[in-house]
Amino acid sequence: GVIWYDGKLVPWRDATTHVLTHTLHYGMGVFEGVRAYKAEQGTAIFRLQEHTDRLFRSAHILGMKLPFDKDTISEAQRTVVRENGLESGYLRPMAFLGSEAMGISAKNLSVHVIVAAWPWGTYLGQEALERGIRVKTSSFSRHHVNVTMCKAKANGNYMNSILAHKEAETDGYDEALLLDVDGFVAEGSGENVFIIRNGKLITPDLTSALEGITRDTLIQLAAEIGLPLVEKRITRDEVYSADEAFFTGTAAEVTPIRELDNRAIGEGTRGPITTRLQAMYFDCVHGRAAA
Ligand code: PLP
Repeated sequence: GVIWYDGKLVPWRDATTHVLTHTLHYGMGVFEGVRAYKAEQGTAIFRLQEHTDRLFRSAHILGMKLPFDKDTISEAQRTVVRENGLESGYLRPMAFLGSEAMGISAKNLSVHVIVAAWPWGTYLGQEALERGIRVKTSSFSRHHVNVTMCKAKANGNYMNSILAHKEAETDGYDEALLLDVDGFVAEGSGENVFIIRNGKLITPDLTSALEGITRDTLIQLAAEIGLPLVEKRITRDEVYSADEAFFTGTAAEVTPIRELDNRAIGEGTRGPITTRLQAMYFDCVHGRAAA
């Protein structure tokens, strides 16, 4: 396969960087996770423009200036899908600082951009989509007050996500739920979270969670079926006592949560509203008109 690297297509094995790459040491970089789906009209990259916009927004938050414009980066994503002959798959645009100097005070570093793509099925498995997953509240928290903040999809923000996910898996769960520093529910290690109670869809406001593009899609789908939406701070016990709960993310798509901290949520299965929204989501990404 090929990877788009600073404007050129290079063979996969040659898309390398120096060990003194600044971002490798200090985590000052930004990335996206994007999916391409097989649609009736051919392969379609789901909400490409929004992902490109968020990449640039993340870079702006970190004070990184990307040496390409948005159209070029969007086109690079289309090219990578096409050149790798992918019908569907996952895309990874990333921007990082070069290896000209070390140290946190290094100035005038070059900025590089890559776009890679590969085939990728469900993130947490087909069974997770159908039956739901078991989740553990993490001992690692989401810090809305740290320097990179949570609106940037920044390399350096993922230390906590990795630690949280690993902790959950080691303890026998499928995924972690991170609280913010005040103890309110923030998000999963790479997903936004929703609960449903008494016919209302409730999701944490974005104070301490990434502005998920899948989250936004679900909000639109809920509006289509007249499901009222509430964005507010939610507590752990509100999740325990919800009728239904689910995660959203480009990777996790719409994944029902059947249990949090060994407490069944609702019937402990994929709930009826979750089932409906999930079906609408898959229709949407595959470019099918909703039933
Ligand atoms: N929260 C975090 C921390 C993430 O990394 C992601 C994944 O991109 C999400 C939420 C979900 O965002 P999106 O739906 O845009 O993929």
